[in-house]
Amino acid sequence: VVSAQKVCKSFGSLDVLKGIDLEVHDREVLCLIGPSGSGKSTLLRCINHLEKIDAGRLYVDGVLVGYREHGGRLHELRDKEIAAQRKNIGMVFQRFNLFPHMTALENVMEAPVQVRREPKGQVRERALELLDRVGLADKARSYPGQLSGGQQQRVAIARALAMQPKLMLFDEPTSALDPELVGDVLGVMRQLAKDGMTMVVVTHEMQFAREVADKVFFMDGGVVVESGAPDEVIGDPKHERTKAFLARVL
Ligand code: ATP
Ligand code: MG
Repeated sequence: VVSAQKVCKSFGSLDVLKGIDLEVHDREVLCLIGPSGSGKSTLLRCINHLEKIDAGRLYVDGVLVGYREHGGRLHELRDKEIAAQRKNIGMVFQRFNLFPHMTALENVMEAPVQVRREPKGQVRERALELLDRVGLADKARSYPGQLSGGQQQRVAIARALAMQPKLMLFDEPTSALDPELVGDVLGVMRQLAKDGMTMVVVTHEMQFAREVADKVFFMDGGVVVESGAPDEVIGDPKHERTKAFLARVL
């Protein structure tokens, strides 16, 4: 579903991604781990063209992200076309950024109704099912301010799923939460993985990565230092930098 080939990204003179290669197949979960500043968020943002890459190629579902290739040259897509590509990709951030003046249900319904112009009745039914799936059937009429951080994050997941994405991107979805709320959100993500969603997850939750990931990529300094099955990368790391990182977070 995702294919990155030698992806490079710089901010001014700062090279943040230095030739990233990765493949995420249908129904796979890839966990990205690594120290602060290693480029994890930037890589995720490149996957849905929130950042433009400087070199390399990025494909989602076989389609070049953000560009059209013509006569060996790349032309950036128009905003409308980029928005159309993003509809297939759900993204959940560290901060939940729900619309504060809308109920949980209205938040989940917003994009399918406003962006995709689906009939409200149909969307409402699906939104209620999704809220049920994230364990919040009884909170449909609550406003974000009336929900805990963990509940808000689960609404954010339901909202992303409402667009029926082919791919879900998570950027440290639990790191802004109180420890006792983390488990519920990870539980929802675990179930989503079981249901066959293709996911790329930036996380510091090593236990989750070990149990749920099909593969783990350890990034440091804009490169993938080590990648493989979770039992290899987390359980039996080969590189010194991976070992040092894990010693700090485990
Ligand atoms: P963290 O674990 O702290 O979230 P990260 O691995 O997600 O770190 P990134 O957010 O991808 O790291 O940032 C990688 C580097 O790129 C950092 O040095 C950061 O300061 C820099 N950077 C990120 N976004 C921008 C930007 N818009 N403009 C300039 N520099 C940026
Ligand atoms: Mg980050």
